[in-house]
Amino acid sequence: MSFLSKYLDEPKIAYFSMEIGLKDDIPTYSGGLGILAGDTIKSAADLNLPFVAVTLMHRKGYFTQDFDETGYQLSKDVIWDPARYMTLAPAKVSIRLEGRTVYVAAWTYIVESLRGGSLPVFFLDTDIPENSAEDRELTHHLYGGDNLYRIKQESILGIAGVRMLKELGFTVKKYHMNEGHASFLTLELLHERKKDIESVWDESLIWDFDSVKELCVFTTHTPVEAGHDKFTYDIYHRVLGEYFPEKVIRWLAGDEHLNMTLLALNLSNYVNGVAKKHGEVSQNMFPGYRINAITNGVHSYTWTNEHFKRLYDKYIPGWANEPEIFVRVETVPDEAIWNAHQDAKTDLINYVNTHCNADMDVNTLTIGFARRFATYKRANLLFTDIDRLVKIAGGRVQFVFAGKAHPKDEGGKKLIQNIFSYARELKGKLKLAFIKNYKMDIGLMLSTGVDVWLNNPLRPLEASGTSGMKSTHNGVPNFSVLDGWWIEGHIEGYTGWSIGPAPTEIEPDESMNKIDADDLYNKLENVIIPTYYNDKKKWIFIMKNTIGKNAYYFNTHRMMRRYVTEAYIR
Ligand SMILES: *Cc1c(COP(=O)(O)O)cnc(C)c1O
Repeated sequence: MSFLSKYLDEPKIAYFSMEIGLKDDIPTYSGGLGILAGDTIKSAADLNLPFVAVTLMHRKGYFTQDFDETGYQLSKDVIWDPARYMTLAPAKVSIRLEGRTVYVAAWTYIVESLRGGSLPVFFLDTDIPENSAEDRELTHHLYGGDNLYRIKQESILGIAGVRMLKELGFTVKKYHMNEGHASFLTLELLHERKKDIESVWDESLIWDFDSVKELCVFTTHTPVEAGHDKFTYDIYHRVLGEYFPEKVIRWLAGDEHLNMTLLALNLSNYVNGVAKKHGEVSQNMFPGYRINAITNGVHSYTWTNEHFKRLYDKYIPGWANEPEIFVRVETVPDEAIWNAHQDAKTDLINYVNTHCNADMDVNTLTIGFARRFATYKRANLLFTDIDRLVKIAGGRVQFVFAGKAHPKDEGGKKLIQNIFSYARELKGKLKLAFIKNYKMDIGLMLSTGVDVWLNNPLRPLEASGTSGMKSTHNGVPNFSVLDGWWIEGHIEGYTGWSIGPAPTEIEPDESMNKIDADDLYNKLENVIIPTYYNDKKKWIFIMKNTIGKNAYYFNTHRMMRRYVTEAYIR
């Protein structure tokens, strides 16, 4: 009997994700994809679903962010000890990579729901004595290294992951691939179900595609063609050799490249994008496949700060496991909402004053922006016209930024450096702070402690976005480009404000920067600043709507119930 026995009693939904963000000090995530995975798992535990999850250990994390004196991002390995949180599972599996046998262990983290449910998450680890020094590093760095490193990691996730669950004694009724990184699992499943037919005319007849498709669910997250993982067949051969006949893979994953998205699309009976708009964009990108849409959410209990937790416990008890109760937010007195928010804001302002020497105060309208610094997120759209910005916002608005750029993304790092130089240049005219090392604890404090949450990506490149949903759980309105989830959550002047024109299908181009920046300045000047300072009643009305109309819907409990009814049980 092992500590896993109690999880082996019924067939599971097995959720595979290259990154999973469960808590702040388990640094195995880089951003939205990982946080979504963690929130998914927590809701699955709360709802007592038969669920297990598989990811990689990422012993050195994504990275810890610091800056030199010019604001240039420096990245360091994260130092953490898995044994503090996890137990080694009683099994090891192996996989052939580059002709060598690589052994894979799994650490188990048990997610415990406050409702009594629990489920295991397996962190695959090659850093064990059986392996060569080189292979021990394969599970060190999330999104590190080159394509060769990536395809090995994806082989471990997909192939060794399936083997590990089997070795541990799990039966699986659905495999859910969270993004294409995991799609090699389909090949392993084809191997498992290979038909025992002798002397066939057509080699492909031995592969039971239909039964694998029945088992697989695929969620795509990337609305740009270039964002999908592709490998050359040279690299595939170098790493996986004769693991799977090339003729068949070319048929399943593309002739030119091995396209991980295509592989998942071809072997999943249910495919979805992560917001309605993203479903449509993906449908256009992949004609011939049926792409559904299940809009993302956030785990309500995780992303509600302590002040709002106390407030909700008092006025709308039961909210955490039944976020639909947010519809009753009208029963909370205005002053109580305002006070809870001011308390959360005080926490944030104290933090930026202590850590960023920001000299901010709690009565000034505070706008927050935190993202991965990918260029399409346009972190410096706000600075399109600096004179105008200072004229509108100087003395009346203070801005707090955070976010990491991928260590190899010089463009993203440049964007951060720009913000540091604006902060210096505008000293005395406009208050700007940059909080370093954006991670879950900072995300909670920042996205729930500001007065307005700003988001201005280039349409239609934001698949969903989730940080704005965290804000809504804490009465913070969004001010955002109409893309991703906000198309569904936005009601102008009720739940927040839009930036720029209604959603369009056009190819993103530079001219949209000016249009969006203009609208951003206009609304800030004519709507948001006057409402905040002159019409507190209206402001609190909007705060309540963010809770009753947005948090009510954009949570992972609702999302998981939809995955169950639309993807898992069909
Ligand atoms: C929520 C969160 C994200 C994702 O935010 P998006 O709005 O999807 O960009 C990324 N990083 C951290 C630390 C978060 O908490």
